[in-house]
Amino acid sequence: MTTEPARVRNQGTRTAFITGISGQDGSYLTEHLVSSDWTVHGMVRAGDDVHHESPAAVALHSGDLMDAPRMAQLIEEVEPDVVFNLGGMSSVAKSWQQPYEAAIVTGAASVALLEAAWRLQERSGRQVRFVQASSAEIFGNASVVPQTESTPIRPVTPYGAAKAFAHHAVETYRSRGLFASSAILYNHESLRRPASFVTRRITLGVAAIALGLKDRIRLGNLDAVRDFGWAPDYVDALDRIATAEQADDFIVATGESHSVKDFAARAFAAAGIPDGLSLVDTDPKFQRPAEALEMRGDPSKISATLGWTATTNFQSIVQMMVEHDINLVREHGLAALPQD
Ligand code: NAP
Repeated sequence: MTTEPARVRNQGTRTAFITGISGQDGSYLTEHLVSSDWTVHGMVRAGDDVHHESPAAVALHSGDLMDAPRMAQLIEEVEPDVVFNLGGMSSVAKSWQQPYEAAIVTGAASVALLEAAWRLQERSGRQVRFVQASSAEIFGNASVVPQTESTPIRPVTPYGAAKAFAHHAVETYRSRGLFASSAILYNHESLRRPASFVTRRITLGVAAIALGLKDRIRLGNLDAVRDFGWAPDYVDALDRIATAEQADDFIVATGESHSVKDFAARAFAAAGIPDGLSLVDTDPKFQRPAEALEMRGDPSKISATLGWTATTNFQSIVQMMVEHDINLVREHGLAALPQD
């Protein structure tokens, strides 16, 4: 990629306020920003386990996405240059079980944060930026593959509907004069992906089979096709979106898609297990009432505008996760696996 990215250059120490700092992306984003001399403030729920180790440049504050006044108070006190809204119920499966909670923490909470950012900007007279972790799930079962920033928003899950609401709220505040952008994130994985997500369920299950601790694994819909990226790449995209010259919405994806079955086959191969798919059972417990058949994003816009491209391919992602999980299961046994 030779395009010179259109970005606002570092003009001294900047301050970020991150919701979801204890999650996969929050932890990688914190490390990424701290290494670029940002000061990072994060909101955590009581009992959160935070992955990163950068105490000097990171301040944690208790708070909850259900508590709008607390979020407003924190933004008023921290006075961030950028608010990154990464928090929320990130599991589509859980959103079917708790649709109301999903609507609040993944949807409505964004308005509390946008309003707080807007008020800080009005009071301080300096620009406050906002980056929303939007999702490919806003497109639902899109008839167009790959999806672009102009694909119609037609969610088919409670999670997708909540993300769609937040996505529109970002547009509303952008038209009001806030620098507010959405990163339309496609699936992205890492060694920090929670164990309940299908990719990690696969790599942990395959690790347990490779070590002789399990005979088989149970999964849901093997035919779902997703665009799998690498989380550290995706937090770099969030940084680029936050420091772009203009607020806008960007698809963040690899442009390649693979089925869950492909992911499982590749994971067994990475562990040296031949014919591994014969060890997979499908369990209706992991099927969802509705879901998109194929999600694949077209990253042309972020590539051309901000110079971002995915650096890590599908095969490497699966290989790294399997190798990591074999070591993890060797150390912790079946306790490392999700409790079904
Ligand atoms: P994650 O690992 O599940 O992290 C979610 C974070 O939200 C955690 O820090 C969690 O805190 C926090 N959170 C949940 N409910 C909260 C509440 N009521 N109050 C305060 N904090 C709360 O998710 P992720 O993979 O990092 O994803 C980051 C964002 O990107 C999410 O908004 C997700 O929906 C979106 N996204 C992710 C993907 C993906 O493939 N990873 C794809 C598209 C969009 P606790 O530790 O307390 O639970």
